[in-house]
Amino acid sequence: MRLSLVHLYPALLNLYGDRGNIITLKQRCAWRGIELDVIEIGLGQDFPVSEPDLVFMGGDQDREQEIVIDDLRRRHGDRLRHSIQNGTPVLAVCGSYQLLQEYYKPAAGRELHGLGIIPAHTVHPGPGVPRCVGNIVIRWPLGTVVGFENHGGRTFLDAGVQPLGTVASGFGNNGDDGTEGARVHNLFGTYIHGSLLPKNPAFADLLLSLALARRYAGATLQPLDDTLERRAHDAAVSRAR
Ligand code: GLN
Repeated sequence: MRLSLVHLYPALLNLYGDRGNIITLKQRCAWRGIELDVIEIGLGQDFPVSEPDLVFMGGDQDREQEIVIDDLRRRHGDRLRHSIQNGTPVLAVCGSYQLLQEYYKPAAGRELHGLGIIPAHTVHPGPGVPRCVGNIVIRWPLGTVVGFENHGGRTFLDAGVQPLGTVASGFGNNGDDGTEGARVHNLFGTYIHGSLLPKNPAFADLLLSLALARRYAGATLQPLDDTLERRAHDAAVSRAR
């Protein structure tokens, strides 16, 4: 079996090892004999004609977000919105999570008009306010998700929007309301870097299972021996306590 993944702006949105998420998805497919074709789409480049099975976008500083946002909204906005409404699994980390919201008001410069796919907004309180930095653990329906966060922006979900999870340790969306990330259809927005997926095999397999079932009706992922991944995950949970 084959799956395709579009990696948007890999050169610009790739902070704190976010590319490790691509490596994890590719390897977890390879261990199962599934080919994952990764298509990198940079600034000024168009989506491939065929519908991808997965989309990934990483994070970055305010400056790179300013560079990306107009291209993202004008060139990919409608396509991404359509894919997400159709159930394509999308993972958007930190800076790209912010750009898929209504707007992001950075520490300085113009307010960035987002794609509005996630009913939420983000405001950076300014360079004088401490950033949300450190190890993070959240609780979600599949247990816990661990990682690292480093963002100045504070995100506020509109009423009724499903968070990705609730903060067990760390800041999350804004360090105040106990939420982290957001889920809209099969779009998963999160602040969790690390990179995220190597220590969260259940998250990686959720994305792959959703993509596989949409491409090959009824197909399921064979389980893997995740002893090492679980050990790293559990160590991160106990460190964060
Ligand atoms: N520049 C954004 C912020 O500071 C996102 C940072 C990131 O992607 N790590 O909130």
